[in-house]
Amino acid sequence: MAWLKYKADSIFNGQKWLDPEMVLVTDDTGKILDFIPAAAAGEEVRRYQGILCPGFINAHCHLELSHLKGRLPEGQGLPAFLQQVMQTRETAPAEVVEAMRESLDRMYAEGISAVGDICNTAASLSLKREGPMRWVNFIEVLNASDAKAPERLQHFRTLRDRYLELPGCDGQPPTASLAAHAPYSTSPLSFHLINQETAGRITSLHNQESAAEDELYRSGKGAFLPFFQHLGYANSPMPVTGSSSLQSVLPYFDQGQRLLLVHNTYTSPEDLVFAAAHAARSGLDVVYCLCPNANLYIEGRLPPVADLLACGAHIVLGTDSLASNHELSIAAEMRTLLQHFPRLGWETVLRWGTSEGAAALGLHDSLGSLRKGTRPGLVWLDEKLQAKRLH
Ligand SMILES: [Zn+2]
Repeated sequence: MAWLKYKADSIFNGQKWLDPEMVLVTDDTGKILDFIPAAAAGEEVRRYQGILCPGFINAHCHLELSHLKGRLPEGQGLPAFLQQVMQTRETAPAEVVEAMRESLDRMYAEGISAVGDICNTAASLSLKREGPMRWVNFIEVLNASDAKAPERLQHFRTLRDRYLELPGCDGQPPTASLAAHAPYSTSPLSFHLINQETAGRITSLHNQESAAEDELYRSGKGAFLPFFQHLGYANSPMPVTGSSSLQSVLPYFDQGQRLLLVHNTYTSPEDLVFAAAHAARSGLDVVYCLCPNANLYIEGRLPPVADLLACGAHIVLGTDSLASNHELSIAAEMRTLLQHFPRLGWETVLRWGTSEGAAALGLHDSLGSLRKGTRPGLVWLDEKLQAKRLH
């Protein structure tokens, strides 16, 4: 068994920087064996300019939409974007699978070790049968009608059960659970059924990606009405509550779930206080997943990072899909955050993209940290902060 020895300008272990004089030792399968002082490391130490860190966690992706890369214009706002996705996503199955394979290979090569992946169909099953990527599959429930809710839920349960038949990875069983798409596309009864179905599990919800979502719940009006008319509704099928969308729908969840709220671009300080209070009351674990490059692509706006930090939010990173992003790269999301919020610093965004992401997806025993005896993947961020997988 060969020993591989790595030294870099900086080594981040998932939680913090290591002493730069330490050398990381792995075997040739990437298993972390030890950390030893450079003076005791002997010959053949591989030296890197830049940062070494554990494999990244992409907490929010839609692998199925990979064939839409470059097809949808930027800056048109969420309601128009969604209509275009519905109109353009139909494509020959072979082309869809080929695009997914390309995305998967590239994500892995650029250091991503696990993905929280939104699934609308069974299209990604064949690719997920083999390693090395770890998948947490969220079977996305899209249903705006209470009348159709029981029948639609049965359809999505059946799809989830197909994902649960996948072989596990690293001795762990496969992970798949139902997830509501968004407050504007999930009827009250659908939320109730999803709440029961996801008791004690990890689930996700697109949250406040556009101002129109809040307006829909506050007044029943706004830019989502043409979207509903396109779906055959004369008016909004959602209840008018007079509150923000998050404050209107979060109370549906009270079964001890871990809920990944994705985007949060328009989430207010009041919403964050409300969410923390509801979470404490109901045993919910709320995680905020940021996808800044997708937010810039669709709405030209960034999430309220300072407000999230001020309330001690659990933050993780995602790429969203190639319909709304130029690449599926966690390193690129980190660069964007640091460009707009330079005071965050690399330590914080690296933690969000490694150990915090692994904890959110329930993968922290094996991924997200450089810990002896584990194979979390090893990533090199070079001097231009481009990511390359070493293991
Ligand atoms: Zn998404």
